[in-house]
Order: sequence, then structure tokens, then C-alpha cells
Amino acid sequence: MKRNRKVKILATLGPASSDEAMIRKLHEAGADLFRINMSHASHDVMRDLIAKIRSVEAACGRPIGILADLQGPKLRVGKFAATTVELKPGQTFTLDNKDEPGDNTRVFLPHPEILQSVKPGHRLLIDDGKLHLRAEKCDGKSIVTTVVSGTKISDRKGVSLPDTLLATGVLTDKDRADLDAVLATNDVDWVALSFIQRPEDLAEVRKVARGRVGLMSKIEKPQAIERIDEIIELSDALMVARGDLGVEMPLEAVPGLQKQLIRACRRAGKPVVVATQMLESMISAPVPTRAEVSDVATAVFEGADAVMLSAESASGQYPVEAVATMASIARTVEREPHYPGIIYAQRAQPEATGADAISLAARQIAETLKLTAIVCYTSSGNTGLRASRERPEVPILALSPVIQTARRLSVVWGLHCVVSEEPTDLDDMVNRACRIVVEEEFGKPGDRVIISAGVPLGTPGSTNMLRIAYIGSDGLSGI
Ligand code: PGA
Ligand code: MN
Repeated sequence: MKRNRKVKILATLGPASSDEAMIRKLHEAGADLFRINMSHASHDVMRDLIAKIRSVEAACGRPIGILADLQGPKLRVGKFAATTVELKPGQTFTLDNKDEPGDNTRVFLPHPEILQSVKPGHRLLIDDGKLHLRAEKCDGKSIVTTVVSGTKISDRKGVSLPDTLLATGVLTDKDRADLDAVLATNDVDWVALSFIQRPEDLAEVRKVARGRVGLMSKIEKPQAIERIDEIIELSDALMVARGDLGVEMPLEAVPGLQKQLIRACRRAGKPVVVATQMLESMISAPVPTRAEVSDVATAVFEGADAVMLSAESASGQYPVEAVATMASIARTVEREPHYPGIIYAQRAQPEATGADAISLAARQIAETLKLTAIVCYTSSGNTGLRASRERPEVPILALSPVIQTARRLSVVWGLHCVVSEEPTDLDDMVNRACRIVVEEEFGKPGDRVIISAGVPLGTPGSTNMLRIAYIGSDGLSGI
């Protein structure tokens, strides 16, 4: 299954996409990996979805990545006596620690740590920012606020605190239990961490995860932006989580931040996913708006590794059409005459490592000699990541003996991952690469490819050689 595009598609599963036939259709339409949203999925539902994805993977013969997205400290107010409570700008409204139904003067805030962290002057944005409160008095047990704008509040609405650094770590009790369940499956490739604020948040999760999953930091808080370099350094990937980011920051700041985050990740060679409302109107319509097509195209032009679908594939009426639309936007944009110039303008300089020097040389040789493909052997995935960081025009086949590596790399720009045994010697390495290029329909006899590998074979982190090879008439190396 050859995708004919570089950017990857991450589709969220949910009620509209929980049966195996639907998951298969989404994969065939272009979904390279799937997100399970732990805010909504029980542990049983998660295990059931994983089993179905793995069964589709076995049937289709392509490695598929699975991302489990932890809810994180998503804060909510308690309940009210009435269905909706009316408020007036200028009035006083209190959030407190009394577990009693609220009215138009107060409501329960079931997060003691928040009552202690908010300071006078901080903003409290309720219901995606529709209600804006300003903290006036805080005594650790209650926050007295003034209503700045908005007129309504109701049960369990979300609370965003753009000015407040939360005293707690990023994992809630629910997240800890979810993370344990995710790790126990031994079958999840990525864990996404919501509302990351500090590099320390990652250290905490890394200790528990012990390398069994890649860590994707969701950037959706201004505090994370302030320390973004350290966060990127400690993360395996990033998500530009524009939903909550657009509540916590001015909406008009989000496009610029998206550019900054994508550039920083490309420089670091860490995969970056652009998420939320990419094809929002396709939740209830079979075609997208012009603005949405343009939004997906922008992410593709910026060289993002992946674009994500949320409700469009999880609970919308047109999940397959949404994936197919994304795929066709990506293919079309990547064939635009301006695409190479735009994407290569942001190409990062190599770092002083063997893997980067080899990846740069592989791209240049492939482009100079008009080779058909770059083939890289990668067991840990690092060489695959560095090859992709070069953003070469020619396809990259990443061969790994480790299925977990192939699955994890499914989110990475431009990599076509194939599970293949460790080569036994140099001839086998070249023949195997040529054979796979032909089998996967990236080349034919007479074409030439460039292969990167590490000698001694089978030693991770040893990428140190390049070899140009002809594909012979038997599909093996012609020289
Ligand atoms: P969510 O994260 O869908 O889990 O909220 C993505 C976002 O906030 O954009
Ligand atoms: Mn979010």
C-alpha cells in the first residue's frame, strides 16, 4: 500500500469508527495511525480498539501506529441546582470547596490544588472561553471573581487557567490508571500528554513509561510555550493542540505558534502533529470548506509530520470522506510547483553526528543522481528520523527488524516503514533493500537506490555507510 504522499494522517477513533470494518476503511482511505482518546474510552474500549487495529494491520500488511491520548488535568466546575445559571458582566461569582449544587453566586470547584494556585488578577475561562472571570480574592479555599464577559454557566463546564502555573504534576489519578492500562497492553506506540506545562512533567511520565512508548507532548498551555525548547528536548514528538491552545492564548496567536512549533520540531528532528478542527465542518457535511482545505494545506506546506482528525473521524457522519479529503489535499499540495521551495527553505542544518552526515549525503546523492528511493536500515528508529529530517524529495523506505519501531515511525514525514529481518551480510543488505523497493512498488529493475546502514550490521546507532545500488532484472542488486 503506497501512499504517494509525505505527510501522515492521524485519525481519532470513537463511536463513529469503532468497528473493525470501519477502521479498515479509514486505514485504506489514508489513516496511517490512530488515536484513542482516554478522555472518552474506558480501558475495555481501549483494549477492544487496539485488538481491532492490530487485526486490520495484519490483514493489510502495513505497520500501524497507535496513540493513546491521556486526558490530563482538564478542569471542570461542579453542578448547579438549575440547568443553566444566568450571570451578568460586573457581578461577583465565587468558586469554592463546598460540594453543594451551585447558583448564580457560587459553584463547587472540585480541584483543591487549583483553589490554592490561582492568584488575584488571573483569568478563569469557562466553557471554551465563552465565560471570562477575573480572580479578585483568593484564600486557598475559594476564589472570588468578577464576571468580565459572558452570561451563562452550567454543569461540569471546562475551566482554563491561562495565567496559572498549577502546583500539581501533569498526571492526574485518572491519567496514572490510564497509563498503567495502556502500558499493560504492550501494544501502544505513543502516549500523548495533555496540558504539559514544564519539562519536569515529562520526566515524571518517562520514569513510568521506561521506553515502552514514545511520549508526545500536547502543546496547549502558554506555560509550555515559555519553556518549549526544554520540552521538545525531553519529548519524542509534539502535538500542536490548537483546541485548548486557542482557548488559553488569543486565537490569532495560534497560526504563528503553529509555525514556530513546526520549525522547532523540524530543527530537532522530532515528529510534530497539527491537530483540531482541521476539517471541522465534515463532522456533518461530506465536503470541507475552502478555509479548512487551506488550513490542511498550510500544515502540509509547513512540513508538519502529520495532520490529525478529531471528531471528524471519531463521531462525525463522514469519517472515511474526512480521511480521504485530507489525503487528497496532501497529495495535491505536495505536487504543487511551489511546494519544494517552501518546504526546503526551512530545512535544518545537520548536527555533527554520523547519522546526520549520512542522511544529508544520502539526500544529496539521491537528488544529484535522480535515484528512485532512499533505503535506510533503522532498528531504534533514529536513522529513520534523521533521514526524514532532511525532507528529501525522493521516497524514504525505513526498514526495521523491530515491528514496534516501524509502528512508531508511522507518524514520521515521508517514511514508508517495512518490517524486515536484520541483513546477514553486506550482499544481503543490498539485495534485501532492492527487493523491498520493488515489492513495495517504489522502483523497478534498472532503477537505482541509495542505501544507508551500519556496519557491523545489527548494531544500533552505528549508521556509517552509504551504498548506491542498481536494481537488477531479478529485483535484486544488479551489481
Ligand atoms: P483534545 O486535544 O482534543 O484532547 O482536547 C487537542 C486540542 O486541544 O487541540
Ligand atoms: Mn486539548
